[in-house]
Amino acid sequence: MTRSQELFERAQRVIPGGVNSPVRAFRAVGGEPLFIARGQGAHLWDTDGKEYIDYLGSWGPLILGHAHPEVLDAVVRAAAAGTSFGAPTEQEVELAELLCRLVPSLAKVRLVSSGTEATMSALRVARGFTEREKIIKIDGGYHGHADCLLVATGSGAATLGLPGSAGVTRGTAQDTLTVAWNDLSAVAAILEREPIAAVIVEPVCGNIGCVPPRPGYLAGLRDLCTRYRTVLVFDEVMTGFRVALGGAQALYGVQPDMTCLGKIVGGGLPAAAYGGRAEIMACVAPDGPVYQAGTLSGNPLAVAAGLTTLRLLERPGTYEKLEATSHRLIEGIGALAREAGVALQANRVGSMFTGFFSGSEVLDYASAKRSDAARFGRWFRAMLERNIYLAPSQFEAAFVSLAHTDADIARTLEAAHHAFQALT
Ligand SMILES: *Cc1c(COP(=O)(O)O)cnc(C)c1O
Repeated sequence: MTRSQELFERAQRVIPGGVNSPVRAFRAVGGEPLFIARGQGAHLWDTDGKEYIDYLGSWGPLILGHAHPEVLDAVVRAAAAGTSFGAPTEQEVELAELLCRLVPSLAKVRLVSSGTEATMSALRVARGFTEREKIIKIDGGYHGHADCLLVATGSGAATLGLPGSAGVTRGTAQDTLTVAWNDLSAVAAILEREPIAAVIVEPVCGNIGCVPPRPGYLAGLRDLCTRYRTVLVFDEVMTGFRVALGGAQALYGVQPDMTCLGKIVGGGLPAAAYGGRAEIMACVAPDGPVYQAGTLSGNPLAVAAGLTTLRLLERPGTYEKLEATSHRLIEGIGALAREAGVALQANRVGSMFTGFFSGSEVLDYASAKRSDAARFGRWFRAMLERNIYLAPSQFEAAFVSLAHTDADIARTLEAAHHAFQALT
């Protein structure tokens, strides 16, 4: 028995499913989760001492790789000065200023501790601002686990085939309307029919696997929301600082009314943020009537990690390098699949990607679901055996970091070659 297997047995006795977040359990790909002992750069070591090239990056935050020395140094210095005060600090002002500069649609931001809190709070604010109740989300969109967003959900819910969740009241679910990704007319039809507080989208779908917006789709949402005075919320928890320094809104040139940030913004520690137009953020307490709070919001360690990460990302050439590495990897995987005669849709935006095991284009959740998830599982395990750690589900994005070297990519493509051969 390996150390990971031993730990997983112990974990299952005291933690539901043995994990603290469902997708970690590896149920969709078979086998058991690895217990991780440490990470350095683009590499991970499990508790049995086996080394992996990591393309999960803690599900997105680690764009600089594991244990980046400057981030570590900032966290250690912050910790030495006290880990939490529940009072304002200079560094959180610096982070808020930096966020407003890097993401120009943000006039004001509020820091929170998770992406879930960011989207939940943004929607409460949008509802307070518009004095309307219903929201629209995308079928397969994942925005964390707030009740109103656990309807037709992606990520772990999609992976486990649970599109909603027990425990969400009918009343709550009724206020969330869902439409297919990339279908503008479905949004238009609802907005025409009834008042809607907010449309929330991941501007690049990431939680059904990586599915980019069709040309004109985001701009179309912008026009519709402006016309019907509905708040357009971009959930950039995954795409923020990932697909471009200014997020997907910079990449596609579309300004939302509100933005949710998470993952990279905390540099691997628990920080997230929501913000938007000044007029909307004026609704947030203590300025306005919408209540939202947090004991550990703006935590000094998380702020130090986030601030340091974003400053490093601001250096010239960062996104060009990420693009070049990601291009090489995904084009390479696509070519190897073709060589092996394996039908694969290699979707990618910047450094986020998913290889869908499907013969037809993946444009939305319905087409993503036509992928051969069992075949993906066999490929995933073949890659894992060859020391490549990917997202353990067909319906998740994987990530390239700035720490991945040419040698890492070459090793990964070598492994992919053998993994595709093993499938056929
Ligand atoms: C990860 C994610 C969330 C949830 O963030 P947590 O920090 O896990 O609560 C919300 N929205 C999107 C788009 C995400 O990818």
